[in-house]
Amino acid sequence: MTPRERLSAAVNGGTVDRVPYSAWHHFMLTPRAGVGSGLAEAEQRFFQSFEPDLLKAMHDIDYEPTPEINTPDDWRSLTPLKPHCGNFGRQLDSLHVLRWELNPDVPVIATVFGVYHYANELSKGKLLEHLRQAPDTVNLGLAAIAESLRRYARATIEIGCEGIYYAVNGATGEGATRDEYLAPFLEYDRMVLESVQTAPFNVLHLHGYKDIYFDMVNDLPAKIVCWSDQAGNGPSLKEARTLYGGCLMGGIDETSFGDLNPEQIKLQGLVAIKEAGRDKLILSPGCAVSSNVSADRLLALRQAAIES
Ligand SMILES: [Zn+2]
Repeated sequence: MTPRERLSAAVNGGTVDRVPYSAWHHFMLTPRAGVGSGLAEAEQRFFQSFEPDLLKAMHDIDYEPTPEINTPDDWRSLTPLKPHCGNFGRQLDSLHVLRWELNPDVPVIATVFGVYHYANELSKGKLLEHLRQAPDTVNLGLAAIAESLRRYARATIEIGCEGIYYAVNGATGEGATRDEYLAPFLEYDRMVLESVQTAPFNVLHLHGYKDIYFDMVNDLPAKIVCWSDQAGNGPSLKEARTLYGGCLMGGIDETSFGDLNPEQIKLQGLVAIKEAGRDKLILSPGCAVSSNVSADRLLALRQAAIES
């Protein structure tokens, strides 16, 4: 099977010749992302060393600079961005080059960080405080961020990516309370994911380690869900099978990836595959592994998938 055929089978409940696998890390390039920064080349080199079935392209670039957000009223200043301009435009250029140069049998998905993530960054952590003070005003800004991300996500598909890796943070006991997260962020998350629903390999990533609101997976349109199944206190792969009918992505603990030896990583992968079953599974870390990870560890993850 080609990587695309294998992934299609995994996502749509078909039979796979082996479990598909993936992994990713930040590249920490300077200047951050964009053509000229070397992102496309770094992704290519990463692909060649490890040959994942799914290349999740990183996004190491900031949101376009905005006026400072220090008070609830400042959220009014945000307006939707044009996806082909500025920072996001540079990231799109890199994705375009990558898609053009990479083996066409290998699907590329673009990382898109969620509305909560950018809103909290832009307000230097004051998002929830401002939302409690003036929800209607803050929502004007959140809607502008969501529209920017919706446009950007659409643009990644238009240039040839076959899905997005939509990384939600804040939807855990470490972030917002369940009620604070669901209203309003669930709607914004849905808006972004719905805009790319025609793409075959959209991943919903629930980022965090403590009390993730896993039941959100059934309220959002993504066929693949990825979370830190080995490292946090969220559901195990086996438990997740009873909570969600789509394709699971995980099985490897990203937090200990640099500490385990290759044999231990391979064993962890094989145990995860046994626990979750071979179907509807992509073997991967639950989140990014560290940027200086050694190639032999990545190859051990790969070997577990190859032996599945
Ligand atoms: Zn994560």
